[in-house]
Amino acid sequence: MATSTNERTGSCLCGAIQVRITGEPIFTNLCHCTSCKKASGSTVVSIAAYRSEDVTYTANPPDALKTYNDGSPESGRVLERAFCGICGSRVRNASLSFPGSVALPTGILDGDKEDLKPKYELFCASRENWMADVPGTEQFATMPPPGFQAPKPGEKQGTWSLES
Ligand SMILES: [Zn+2]
Ligand SMILES: [Zn+2]
Repeated sequence: MATSTNERTGSCLCGAIQVRITGEPIFTNLCHCTSCKKASGSTVVSIAAYRSEDVTYTANPPDALKTYNDGSPESGRVLERAFCGICGSRVRNASLSFPGSVALPTGILDGDKEDLKPKYELFCASRENWMADVPGTEQFATMPPPGFQAPKPGEKQGTWSLES
């Protein structure tokens, strides 16, 4: 059992973007949607979402942090996808219609990620057919139904609704 940590660090591949997190994740999930596949170049994206005020980004040089407003997600929300302009690592997703939180690809985070184990899988309709359910997770064909309370890591039911 990992102890919950109140501070966590991360970076892009080249180190130009550094991230420091205080506080606990709001929710953790895996996203199989076609937009995340395209954006990441991979088959699935592992996400940990935090309150915006708990996450601090620093960029050196300052213009290394780039953003792209992605209007393609099936959720209908516009996602601001942030990335390093030097090495291309994706460092943040933020829903422009759901302010107050940011979602981080867990691959950029340092250290033990036991506490960032996904609690549910999104857009399983687009999941690669050779992938099985991750044990202990809940599966949704697309987005969770309205009113779904995202389970927080370490809890059965969270208090953070995905609905804005
Ligand atoms: Zn970089
Ligand atoms: Zn996605």
